[in-house]
Amino acid sequence: MDPKTLALLDHRHLWHPFTQQAEWVASAPLIVAEADGVYLIDVHGRRYLDGVSSLWTNVHGHRVPELDRALQEQLGRVAHSTMLGLTHPSAIALAARLAELSPGELVRTFYSDNGSTAVEVALKMAFQSQQQRGEHRRTRFATLRDAYHGDTLGAVSVGSIELFHAIYRPLLFDAISLPAPTSPGGPEEEEALSRGLQLLEEHGDTLAAFVFEPLVQGAAGMKMHSASFLRALAQRARELGVLLVADEVAVGLGRTGSLFAMEQVGLAPDLLCLAKGLAGGYLPLAATLCTESIYQAFLGAPEAHRQFFHGHTFTGNPLAAAVALASLERIEAEDVLAQADALAGAMSAALDELSSLPWVSRIRRRGVMVGIDLSQPDGSSWAPSARVAHRVAMATRPRGAIVRPLGDTIVLNPPLVMSPDQGALLVQIVGEAVAEVCG
Ligand SMILES: *Cc1c(COP(=O)(O)O)cnc(C)c1O
Repeated sequence: MDPKTLALLDHRHLWHPFTQQAEWVASAPLIVAEADGVYLIDVHGRRYLDGVSSLWTNVHGHRVPELDRALQEQLGRVAHSTMLGLTHPSAIALAARLAELSPGELVRTFYSDNGSTAVEVALKMAFQSQQQRGEHRRTRFATLRDAYHGDTLGAVSVGSIELFHAIYRPLLFDAISLPAPTSPGGPEEEEALSRGLQLLEEHGDTLAAFVFEPLVQGAAGMKMHSASFLRALAQRARELGVLLVADEVAVGLGRTGSLFAMEQVGLAPDLLCLAKGLAGGYLPLAATLCTESIYQAFLGAPEAHRQFFHGHTFTGNPLAAAVALASLERIEAEDVLAQADALAGAMSAALDELSSLPWVSRIRRRGVMVGIDLSQPDGSSWAPSARVAHRVAMATRPRGAIVRPLGDTIVLNPPLVMSPDQGALLVQIVGEAVAEVCG
Protein backbone atom coordinates (compact mmCIF):
# COMPACT_ATOMS: atom_id res chain seq x y z
CA MET A 1 0.00 0.00 0.00
CA ASP A 2 1.29 3.51 -0.80
CA PRO A 3 1.72 6.04 2.05
CA LYS A 4 -1.32 8.11 1.00
CA THR A 5 -3.65 5.11 1.12
CA LEU A 6 -2.19 4.02 4.45
CA ALA A 7 -2.81 7.48 5.94
CA LEU A 8 -6.35 7.53 4.58
CA LEU A 9 -7.19 4.11 6.00
CA ASP A 10 -5.58 4.98 9.35
CA HIS A 11 -7.73 8.10 9.59
CA ARG A 12 -10.82 6.16 8.57
CA HIS A 13 -10.43 2.99 10.67
CA LEU A 14 -7.99 3.43 13.57
CA TRP A 15 -8.42 4.82 17.06
CA HIS A 16 -5.08 5.64 18.72
CA PRO A 17 -4.35 5.40 22.46
CA PHE A 18 -4.37 8.56 24.62
CA THR A 19 -5.08 10.54 21.45
CA GLN A 20 -7.52 13.31 20.60
CA GLN A 21 -8.59 11.85 17.28
CA ALA A 22 -9.97 15.20 16.06
CA GLU A 23 -6.39 16.49 16.14
CA TRP A 24 -4.88 13.24 14.87
CA VAL A 25 -6.92 13.12 11.65
CA ALA A 26 -5.98 16.74 10.84
CA SER A 27 -2.43 15.85 9.80
CA ALA A 28 -0.56 13.08 8.00
CA PRO A 29 0.59 10.36 10.42
CA LEU A 30 4.22 9.33 10.69
CA ILE A 31 4.10 5.74 9.48
CA VAL A 32 6.98 3.57 10.71
CA ALA A 33 7.88 1.04 8.04
CA GLU A 34 11.01 -0.45 9.54
CA ALA A 35 13.83 0.13 11.97
CA ASP A 36 17.60 -0.15 12.17
CA GLY A 37 19.38 -0.18 15.54
CA VAL A 38 18.23 2.89 17.49
CA TYR A 39 16.61 4.43 14.39
CA LEU A 40 12.99 4.18 13.25
CA ILE A 41 12.48 4.55 9.48
CA ASP A 42 9.26 5.89 7.97
CA VAL A 43 7.55 4.94 4.71
CA HIS A 44 9.51 7.67 2.90
CA GLY A 45 12.84 6.28 4.13
CA ARG A 46 13.44 9.07 6.66
CA ARG A 47 15.34 8.04 9.80
CA TYR A 48 14.53 9.08 13.38
CA LEU A 49 16.38 8.46 16.65
CA ASP A 50 14.01 6.41 18.82
CA GLY A 51 14.20 8.89 21.71
CA VAL A 52 11.59 7.14 23.88
CA SER A 53 12.48 3.50 23.10
CA SER A 54 9.16 2.96 21.30
CA LEU A 55 7.30 3.86 24.48
CA TRP A 56 9.99 2.81 26.98
CA THR A 57 10.20 -0.77 25.78
CA ASN A 58 13.25 -1.06 23.57
CA VAL A 59 16.48 -2.12 25.28
CA HIS A 60 19.01 -3.24 22.65
CA GLY A 61 17.81 -1.30 19.60
CA HIS A 62 15.69 -2.81 16.84
CA ARG A 63 16.48 -5.88 14.74
CA VAL A 64 19.09 -7.25 17.11
CA PRO A 65 20.63 -10.46 15.67
CA GLU A 66 20.64 -12.36 19.00
CA LEU A 67 16.99 -11.51 19.70
CA ASP A 68 15.89 -12.17 16.11
CA ARG A 69 17.60 -15.57 16.26
CA ALA A 70 15.96 -16.50 19.59
CA LEU A 71 12.57 -15.58 18.15
CA GLN A 72 13.11 -17.55 14.94
CA GLU A 73 14.33 -20.60 16.85
CA GLN A 74 11.26 -20.53 19.07
CA LEU A 75 9.06 -20.09 15.97
CA GLY A 76 10.61 -23.26 14.63
CA ARG A 77 9.41 -25.11 17.75
CA VAL A 78 6.04 -23.63 18.79
CA ALA A 79 4.56 -20.11 18.68
CA HIS A 80 1.93 -20.54 21.35
CA SER A 81 0.47 -23.15 23.63
CA THR A 82 -1.00 -22.44 27.10
CA MET A 83 0.16 -22.17 30.71
CA LEU A 84 -3.19 -23.52 31.95
CA GLY A 85 -2.56 -27.21 32.58
CA LEU A 86 0.63 -27.20 30.46
CA THR A 87 4.04 -25.60 30.57
CA HIS A 88 6.97 -25.03 28.19
CA PRO A 89 10.77 -24.73 28.30
CA SER A 90 11.15 -20.97 27.59
CA ALA A 91 8.69 -19.93 30.32
CA ILE A 92 10.40 -22.29 32.78
CA ALA A 93 13.92 -21.08 31.98
CA LEU A 94 12.87 -17.42 32.13
CA ALA A 95 11.20 -17.81 35.54
CA ALA A 96 14.33 -19.49 36.89
CA ARG A 97 16.50 -16.69 35.47
CA LEU A 98 14.28 -13.95 36.94
CA ALA A 99 14.51 -15.65 40.35
CA GLU A 100 18.33 -15.43 40.11
CA LEU A 101 18.47 -11.82 38.92
CA SER A 102 15.72 -10.12 40.91
CA PRO A 103 16.35 -8.46 44.27
CA GLY A 104 15.71 -10.39 47.48
CA GLU A 105 13.75 -13.63 47.51
CA LEU A 106 11.39 -13.18 44.57
CA VAL A 107 11.49 -16.82 43.54
CA ARG A 108 8.04 -17.19 41.90
CA THR A 109 6.93 -15.75 38.56
CA PHE A 110 3.31 -15.35 37.43
CA TYR A 111 3.12 -14.34 33.75
CA SER A 112 0.73 -12.03 31.95
CA ASP A 113 1.08 -9.85 28.87
CA ASN A 114 1.25 -6.16 29.79
CA GLY A 115 2.08 -3.79 32.61
CA SER A 116 -1.52 -3.20 33.65
CA THR A 117 -2.19 -6.91 34.04
CA ALA A 118 1.10 -7.36 35.92
CA VAL A 119 -0.21 -4.77 38.40
CA GLU A 120 -3.74 -6.29 38.54
CA VAL A 121 -2.12 -9.63 39.33
CA ALA A 122 -0.02 -8.06 42.10
CA LEU A 123 -3.05 -6.30 43.64
CA LYS A 124 -5.17 -9.46 43.66
CA MET A 125 -2.26 -11.59 44.89
CA ALA A 126 -1.48 -9.19 47.73
CA PHE A 127 -5.14 -8.91 48.73
CA GLN A 128 -5.90 -12.63 48.54
CA SER A 129 -2.74 -13.63 50.40
CA GLN A 130 -3.66 -11.24 53.23
CA GLN A 131 -7.23 -12.63 53.31
CA GLN A 132 -6.03 -16.22 53.36
CA ARG A 133 -3.67 -15.46 56.22
CA GLY A 134 -6.66 -14.24 58.22
CA GLU A 135 -5.91 -10.52 57.76
CA HIS A 136 -9.52 -9.78 56.80
CA ARG A 137 -9.42 -6.04 57.52
CA ARG A 138 -6.64 -5.48 55.00
CA THR A 139 -8.73 -4.52 51.99
CA ARG A 140 -7.10 -1.30 50.79
CA PHE A 141 -3.94 -0.10 49.09
CA ALA A 142 -1.56 2.78 49.70
CA THR A 143 -0.10 4.50 46.64
CA LEU A 144 2.02 7.52 45.80
CA ARG A 145 0.40 10.70 44.52
CA ASP A 146 0.58 11.03 40.72
CA ALA A 147 1.16 7.30 40.41
CA TYR A 148 0.56 5.52 37.15
CA HIS A 149 0.11 1.76 37.17
CA GLY A 150 -1.75 1.13 33.92
CA ASP A 151 -5.16 1.61 32.35
CA THR A 152 -7.33 -1.29 33.51
CA LEU A 153 -9.70 -0.32 36.32
CA GLY A 154 -7.80 -1.90 39.21
CA ALA A 155 -4.58 -0.29 38.01
CA VAL A 156 -6.39 3.02 37.53
CA SER A 157 -7.74 2.76 41.09
CA VAL A 158 -4.20 2.78 42.47
CA GLY A 159 -3.18 5.52 40.04
CA SER A 160 -3.78 9.21 40.58
CA ILE A 161 -2.85 11.24 37.54
CA GLU A 162 -5.80 13.63 37.55
CA LEU A 163 -5.83 14.12 33.78
CA PHE A 164 -5.96 10.40 32.95
CA HIS A 165 -8.06 9.17 35.86
CA ALA A 166 -10.62 11.81 36.93
CA ILE A 167 -13.42 10.78 34.57
CA TYR A 168 -13.31 7.15 35.75
CA ARG A 169 -13.44 8.01 39.48
CA PRO A 170 -17.02 6.65 39.99
CA LEU A 171 -15.87 3.24 38.76
CA LEU A 172 -12.83 2.93 41.04
CA PHE A 173 -12.05 1.60 44.50
CA ASP A 174 -10.55 3.92 47.09
CA ALA A 175 -6.82 4.04 47.77
CA ILE A 176 -4.77 5.92 50.35
CA SER A 177 -2.64 8.39 48.42
CA LEU A 178 0.69 9.31 50.03
CA PRO A 179 2.31 12.58 48.93
CA ALA A 180 5.26 12.23 46.55
CA PRO A 181 7.92 14.85 45.80
CA THR A 182 8.56 16.18 42.31
CA SER A 183 12.32 15.83 42.54
CA PRO A 184 14.66 14.14 45.02
CA GLY A 185 15.90 15.77 48.21
CA GLY A 186 14.92 19.09 49.74
CA PRO A 187 12.12 20.30 52.01
CA GLU A 188 9.34 19.14 49.66
CA GLU A 189 10.52 15.57 50.09
CA GLU A 190 10.91 15.87 53.87
CA GLU A 191 7.37 17.17 54.17
CA ALA A 192 6.00 14.41 51.92
CA LEU A 193 7.80 11.80 54.00
CA SER A 194 6.48 12.99 57.34
CA ARG A 195 2.90 13.22 55.99
CA GLY A 196 3.26 9.79 54.33
CA LEU A 197 4.46 8.17 57.56
CA GLN A 198 1.55 9.74 59.39
CA LEU A 199 -0.95 8.33 56.85
CA LEU A 200 0.63 4.89 57.18
CA GLU A 201 0.16 5.01 60.98
CA GLU A 202 -3.48 6.02 60.53
CA HIS A 203 -4.41 3.42 57.93
CA GLY A 204 -1.72 0.73 58.30
CA ASP A 205 -3.97 -1.93 59.81
CA THR A 206 -6.44 -1.77 56.87
CA LEU A 207 -3.82 -1.83 54.13
CA ALA A 208 -3.14 -4.98 52.09
CA ALA A 209 -0.19 -3.45 50.24
CA PHE A 210 1.75 -0.31 49.37
CA VAL A 211 2.11 -0.01 45.59
CA PHE A 212 4.75 2.30 44.13
CA GLU A 213 6.95 3.09 41.13
CA PRO A 214 10.43 3.07 42.70
CA LEU A 215 12.63 6.17 42.10
CA VAL A 216 10.87 7.50 38.99
CA GLN A 217 7.13 8.09 38.53
CA GLY A 218 7.35 7.88 34.77
CA ALA A 219 3.93 8.76 33.38
CA ALA A 220 3.62 11.63 35.89
CA GLY A 221 6.30 13.36 33.77
CA MET A 222 9.39 11.67 35.27
CA LYS A 223 8.73 12.78 38.85
CA MET A 224 11.57 11.55 41.02
CA HIS A 225 12.23 10.82 44.68
CA SER A 226 15.31 9.71 46.58
CA ALA A 227 16.00 6.08 47.50
CA SER A 228 15.98 7.07 51.18
CA PHE A 229 12.49 8.62 50.89
CA LEU A 230 11.04 5.41 49.49
CA ARG A 231 13.05 3.20 51.84
CA ALA A 232 11.68 5.04 54.90
CA LEU A 233 8.06 4.74 53.72
CA ALA A 234 8.40 1.13 52.63
CA GLN A 235 10.17 0.06 55.80
CA ARG A 236 7.46 1.54 57.99
CA ALA A 237 4.74 -0.03 55.82
CA ARG A 238 6.38 -3.43 56.20
CA GLU A 239 6.58 -3.04 59.99
CA LEU A 240 2.83 -2.40 59.93
CA GLY A 241 2.18 -5.68 58.10
CA VAL A 242 1.65 -4.05 54.69
CA LEU A 243 3.02 -5.90 51.65
CA LEU A 244 5.31 -4.00 49.28
CA VAL A 245 4.52 -4.01 45.54
CA ALA A 246 7.27 -2.50 43.39
CA ASP A 247 5.90 -1.57 39.96
CA GLU A 248 9.11 -1.75 37.92
CA VAL A 249 7.21 -1.90 34.62
CA ALA A 250 8.93 1.33 33.53
CA VAL A 251 12.05 1.55 35.70
CA GLY A 252 13.06 -2.12 35.60
CA LEU A 253 15.72 -3.69 33.39
CA GLY A 254 18.38 -1.04 33.51
CA ARG A 255 16.51 2.25 33.03
CA THR A 256 17.66 3.87 36.30
CA GLY A 257 21.28 2.69 36.42
CA SER A 258 20.77 -0.76 37.98
CA LEU A 259 18.99 -3.82 36.59
CA PHE A 260 16.16 -3.22 39.11
CA ALA A 261 15.48 0.13 40.78
CA MET A 262 14.85 -1.65 44.10
CA GLU A 263 18.55 -2.53 44.24
CA GLN A 264 19.20 1.19 44.83
CA VAL A 265 16.39 1.44 47.37
CA GLY A 266 18.15 -1.33 49.27
CA LEU A 267 14.98 -3.15 50.17
CA ALA A 268 13.44 -6.29 48.68
CA PRO A 269 9.73 -5.98 47.80
CA ASP A 270 7.20 -8.78 48.35
CA LEU A 271 5.93 -8.44 44.79
CA LEU A 272 7.56 -6.92 41.71
CA CYS A 273 5.94 -6.11 38.35
CA LEU A 274 7.80 -6.20 35.05
CA ALA A 275 6.59 -5.60 31.50
CA LYS A 276 7.69 -2.90 29.02
CA GLY A 277 11.35 -3.90 28.51
CA LEU A 278 11.06 -7.52 29.65
CA ALA A 279 11.14 -8.98 26.15
CA GLY A 280 13.65 -6.35 25.01
CA GLY A 281 10.85 -4.28 23.47
CA TYR A 282 10.04 -6.98 20.91
CA LEU A 283 6.84 -8.55 22.21
CA PRO A 284 4.22 -8.08 24.91
CA LEU A 285 5.21 -9.99 28.04
CA ALA A 286 4.76 -9.25 31.71
CA ALA A 287 5.73 -10.93 34.94
CA THR A 288 4.61 -10.52 38.54
CA LEU A 289 7.31 -11.89 40.83
CA CYS A 290 6.59 -12.77 44.44
CA THR A 291 8.17 -14.32 47.51
CA GLU A 292 7.69 -17.94 48.52
CA SER A 293 5.82 -16.73 51.59
CA ILE A 294 3.08 -15.09 49.48
CA TYR A 295 2.89 -18.19 47.30
CA GLN A 296 2.47 -20.41 50.39
CA ALA A 297 -0.70 -18.54 51.36
CA PHE A 298 -2.37 -20.02 48.25
CA LEU A 299 -1.59 -23.67 48.98
CA GLY A 300 -4.20 -26.20 50.12
CA ALA A 301 -6.47 -28.96 48.83
CA PRO A 302 -8.11 -28.13 45.46
CA GLU A 303 -11.56 -28.17 47.06
CA ALA A 304 -10.40 -25.58 49.62
CA HIS A 305 -10.44 -23.02 46.76
CA ARG A 306 -7.33 -21.20 47.91
CA GLN A 307 -5.76 -21.02 44.46
CA PHE A 308 -5.17 -17.77 42.63
CA PHE A 309 -8.21 -17.14 40.43
CA HIS A 310 -6.54 -15.29 37.60
CA GLY A 311 -5.05 -16.00 34.17
CA HIS A 312 -4.84 -14.47 30.73
CA THR A 313 -5.12 -16.54 27.57
CA PHE A 314 -1.74 -15.60 26.10
CA THR A 315 0.03 -15.73 29.45
CA GLY A 316 3.71 -16.73 29.24
CA ASN A 317 3.71 -16.79 25.44
CA PRO A 318 6.67 -18.90 24.23
CA LEU A 319 7.86 -16.43 21.57
CA ALA A 320 7.95 -13.57 24.07
CA ALA A 321 9.58 -15.72 26.76
CA ALA A 322 12.31 -16.88 24.36
CA VAL A 323 13.11 -13.28 23.38
CA ALA A 324 13.09 -12.20 27.04
CA LEU A 325 15.66 -14.87 27.86
CA ALA A 326 17.85 -13.73 24.97
CA SER A 327 17.46 -10.11 26.10
CA LEU A 328 18.55 -10.87 29.68
CA GLU A 329 21.48 -12.83 28.31
CA ARG A 330 22.51 -9.96 26.05
CA ILE A 331 22.21 -7.39 28.87
CA GLU A 332 24.88 -9.39 30.67
CA ALA A 333 27.05 -10.43 27.70
CA GLU A 334 27.28 -6.91 26.22
CA ASP A 335 27.42 -5.15 29.59
CA VAL A 336 24.39 -3.12 28.58
CA LEU A 337 24.24 -1.44 32.00
CA ALA A 338 27.70 0.06 31.41
CA GLN A 339 26.55 1.24 27.97
CA ALA A 340 23.50 2.86 29.60
CA ASP A 341 25.81 4.55 32.09
CA ALA A 342 27.93 6.06 29.33
CA LEU A 343 24.77 7.18 27.52
CA ALA A 344 23.37 8.76 30.71
CA GLY A 345 26.67 10.63 31.21
CA ALA A 346 26.66 12.04 27.68
CA MET A 347 23.00 13.06 27.94
CA SER A 348 23.66 14.70 31.31
CA ALA A 349 26.42 16.88 29.86
CA ALA A 350 24.17 17.92 26.98
CA LEU A 351 21.25 18.53 29.36
CA ASP A 352 23.40 20.89 31.45
CA GLU A 353 23.74 23.02 28.34
CA LEU A 354 20.03 22.73 27.56
CA SER A 355 19.12 23.99 31.04
CA SER A 356 20.44 27.45 30.11
CA LEU A 357 17.58 27.92 27.62
CA PRO A 358 15.07 30.43 29.07
CA TRP A 359 12.13 28.09 28.35
CA VAL A 360 13.56 25.14 30.28
CA SER A 361 12.49 25.52 33.92
CA ARG A 362 13.73 22.22 35.34
CA ILE A 363 15.38 18.98 34.25
CA ARG A 364 15.11 15.71 36.16
CA ARG A 365 17.22 12.69 35.28
CA ARG A 366 17.98 9.26 36.64
CA GLY A 367 19.81 6.76 34.46
CA VAL A 368 18.46 7.20 30.93
CA MET A 369 15.08 8.55 32.13
CA VAL A 370 14.78 12.31 31.64
CA GLY A 371 12.03 14.89 32.16
CA ILE A 372 12.50 18.38 30.75
CA ASP A 373 9.94 20.89 32.11
CA LEU A 374 9.03 23.75 29.77
CA SER A 375 7.72 27.11 30.91
CA GLN A 376 7.63 30.76 29.86
CA PRO A 377 10.86 32.67 30.51
CA ASP A 378 9.41 34.18 33.72
CA GLY A 379 8.80 30.66 35.04
CA SER A 380 5.01 30.68 34.59
CA SER A 381 3.24 27.85 32.76
CA TRP A 382 2.12 28.06 29.17
CA ALA A 383 -1.60 28.01 28.48
CA PRO A 384 -2.67 24.38 27.95
CA SER A 385 -4.17 25.39 24.59
CA ALA A 386 -0.67 26.43 23.42
CA ARG A 387 0.25 22.69 23.43
CA VAL A 388 3.87 23.72 23.78
CA ALA A 389 5.44 20.35 24.68
CA HIS A 390 3.38 18.65 21.99
CA ARG A 391 4.61 21.16 19.40
CA VAL A 392 8.19 20.77 20.59
CA ALA A 393 7.89 17.00 20.20
CA MET A 394 6.54 17.45 16.67
CA ALA A 395 9.37 19.89 15.85
CA THR A 396 11.98 17.25 16.68
CA ARG A 397 10.73 15.06 13.83
CA PRO A 398 12.05 17.02 10.85
CA ARG A 399 15.36 17.10 12.77
CA GLY A 400 15.43 13.31 12.95
CA ALA A 401 14.14 12.29 16.37
CA ILE A 402 11.00 10.94 18.01
CA VAL A 403 10.25 12.17 21.53
CA ARG A 404 7.01 12.41 23.55
CA PRO A 405 5.40 15.13 25.66
CA LEU A 406 3.68 14.54 29.01
CA GLY A 407 1.85 17.72 29.96
CA ASP A 408 4.46 20.52 29.79
CA THR A 409 7.29 18.03 30.08
CA ILE A 410 9.39 16.53 27.30
CA VAL A 411 10.33 12.97 28.11
CA LEU A 412 13.48 11.21 26.93
CA ASN A 413 14.04 7.53 27.59
CA PRO A 414 16.23 6.09 24.81
CA PRO A 415 17.26 2.46 24.24
CA LEU A 416 20.04 1.55 26.68
CA VAL A 417 22.48 0.88 23.85
CA MET A 418 22.13 4.28 22.15
CA SER A 419 25.68 5.61 21.74
CA PRO A 420 26.82 8.61 23.82
CA ASP A 421 27.10 10.71 20.62
CA GLN A 422 23.58 9.81 19.57
CA GLY A 423 22.33 10.60 23.10
CA ALA A 424 23.96 14.04 22.97
CA LEU A 425 22.49 14.60 19.50
CA LEU A 426 19.03 13.67 20.79
CA VAL A 427 19.28 16.34 23.51
CA GLN A 428 20.62 18.87 21.00
CA ILE A 429 17.65 18.21 18.70
CA VAL A 430 15.26 18.82 21.60
CA GLY A 431 17.07 22.12 22.32
CA GLU A 432 16.66 23.26 18.70
CA ALA A 433 12.99 22.29 18.72
CA VAL A 434 12.38 24.17 22.01
CA ALA A 435 14.06 27.30 20.62
CA GLU A 436 12.01 27.10 17.42
CA VAL A 437 8.63 26.60 19.12
CA CYS A 438 9.12 28.89 22.16
CA GLY A 439 11.38 31.53 20.66
C1 LIG B 1 3.42 1.62 31.28
C2 LIG B 1 3.23 1.33 32.71
C3 LIG B 1 2.25 0.44 33.15
C4 LIG B 1 1.24 -0.17 32.22
O1 LIG B 1 1.81 -1.00 31.28
P1 LIG B 1 0.96 -1.39 29.96
O2 LIG B 1 1.80 -2.43 29.31
O3 LIG B 1 0.83 -0.14 29.16
O4 LIG B 1 -0.35 -1.90 30.42
C5 LIG B 1 2.19 0.14 34.50
N1 LIG B 1 3.05 0.71 35.36
C6 LIG B 1 4.00 1.57 34.98
C7 LIG B 1 4.92 2.14 35.99
C8 LIG B 1 4.10 1.95 33.64
O5 LIG B 1 5.01 2.85 33.25
